[in-house]
Amino acid sequence: MKALTYHGPYKVSVDNVADPGIVDQDDIILRVTATAICGSDLHLYRGKIPKTEHGDIFGHEFMGEVVEAGRDVTAVQKGDRVVIPFVIACGDCFFCRMQQFAACETTNTGRGAIINKKQIPPPAALFGFSHLYGGIPGGQAEYVRVPKANTGPFKVPDILSDDKVLFLSDILPTAWQAVKNAQVGKGSRVAIFGAGPVGLLSAACARMLGAEQIFMIDHHPYRLAFAQERYGVIPVNFDETDDPAAAIIEQTPGNRGVDAVIDAVGFEAKGSTTETILTNLKLEGSSGKALRQCIAAVRRGGIVSVPGVYAGFIHGFLFGDAFDKGLTFKMGQTHVHAYLPELLPLIEQGLLKPEEIITHKLSLDDAAKGYEIFEKKEEECRKVILVPET
Ligand code: NAD
Ligand code: ZN
Ligand code: ZN
Repeated sequence: MKALTYHGPYKVSVDNVADPGIVDQDDIILRVTATAICGSDLHLYRGKIPKTEHGDIFGHEFMGEVVEAGRDVTAVQKGDRVVIPFVIACGDCFFCRMQQFAACETTNTGRGAIINKKQIPPPAALFGFSHLYGGIPGGQAEYVRVPKANTGPFKVPDILSDDKVLFLSDILPTAWQAVKNAQVGKGSRVAIFGAGPVGLLSAACARMLGAEQIFMIDHHPYRLAFAQERYGVIPVNFDETDDPAAAIIEQTPGNRGVDAVIDAVGFEAKGSTTETILTNLKLEGSSGKALRQCIAAVRRGGIVSVPGVYAGFIHGFLFGDAFDKGLTFKMGQTHVHAYLPELLPLIEQGLLKPEEIITHKLSLDDAAKGYEIFEKKEEECRKVILVPET
C-alpha cells in the first residue's frame, strides 16, 4: 500500500510499504477514506520529536471503513464507517476509568521514567507519533491497523460527509478541551494565541458557548481575517504591535485582562538543551513566546489553557508572575474519547461546522506537497486534507 513516510527533517515521501495486518485480536484494519495534516505533524516533520525514525508512517487524524476485525472485536464490524481518536486507550485502566484517556497506562511501550528504580508508566500511545509514543504506524496511508478497537473507533452517520466528521479524530476535541479547561461560557473574555486549525476551532467553540470577547493573536492576515469574519474575533497581528498582551488588556474592562487565555501555538524548539526527567532525553528548550504573552494577557485568578504541544523546558517562564496573579494552568494531550458523544450532536445540529476551515484537499500521492504548503503557510492555507485514491 501507499503511505507517507519520514526520511529526516523536512523530508517526507509517499512510498510503497507492506499492508498492515491484525496483530492482536482486538485490532481492526481500516481502509482510510480521509486523513489530515496536523500542526503536531509539523513538529515531527521539522525533526523536533525525538525517536522519530526513517520510514515511520505519520498521521493521527484519519477515518474510514472497517475492512477486517480481530476475533475479540465486538464494538464495530466489517463495513462500519468510523473516526479514530488519535490517542490509543485501553478503556479499562486506572486513568481510562477516570476518562483521562491520554494518560492510559497500558498502550505505550515506548518510554517511561525510572524513579527509584521503579518504572513510571508513560502516557498513552499515539498513532504516527514517534517511538516515544509507542511507534504505532499512522493513518496517512491507504490502510492502517487500529489497536484497542473496542474502545477507540467511533461510528459516524452516513449522512455526514467525511469533511464534517474527520476532525473528531483530534482538532475538534482538542479545541473543545481547550475551551472547557478555560471555563469559557456566556460573557467570558478569552484570548486565543495561534490562528491555526486548533486556534480557529477553539474560537468556533468559544463563540458557540457565548463568549463576550474573543481575541485572536497570529501574524498571518488571512487566518486572522477568516476568524474575524466567521467567529467575530478581535484580531491582533503580532507583527504590527510590540506587545500583543498590552493590546488585549487595554480593550478589557478596568484593564484587568481576559478571564482565560488559550495557547494554541506550542513549542518552537531553539536554544540550549537539557535532559528531561520524564523521558531521560536531551531536548532543546522552547522560546515560549506565546506562553509568556498568555501569562501577561490573563487577569488575576484567570486560567491559562494550553492545547499547544510542548517538549522539554521553556526559556524565561514567568512563574513569579503566574504566582502573583494566582493563575490556574490546564494542559496536555486531549482525552479525545471523552468528548465524542457530546461533539457529534453539535455537528449534526449545525452548531459547529469544523469543515469550514479546510482550504486544501489533495490526493494522498501529493502528501509531501501538502506538508510543504502547511509548513510554509505562504499561500492561504488553514487545513490540508489527504484523500487516498480508490
Ligand atoms: P499551526 O502550526 O497551523 O498553527 C499555529 C499558529 O500559531 C500559526 O498560525 C502561527 O502563525 C501561530 N503563531 C506562531 N507563533 C505565535 C505567537 N508567538 N503568538 C501567536 N501566534 C503564533 O498548528 P495547529 O494545527 O493549529 O496546532 C497548534 C498547536 O496545537 C501545535 O503545537 C500542535 O502540536 C498542538 N496540538 C495539540 C493537541 C493536543 O492534544 N493537545 C492536538 C492537536 C494539536
Ligand atoms: Zn493532530
Ligand atoms: Zn487505559
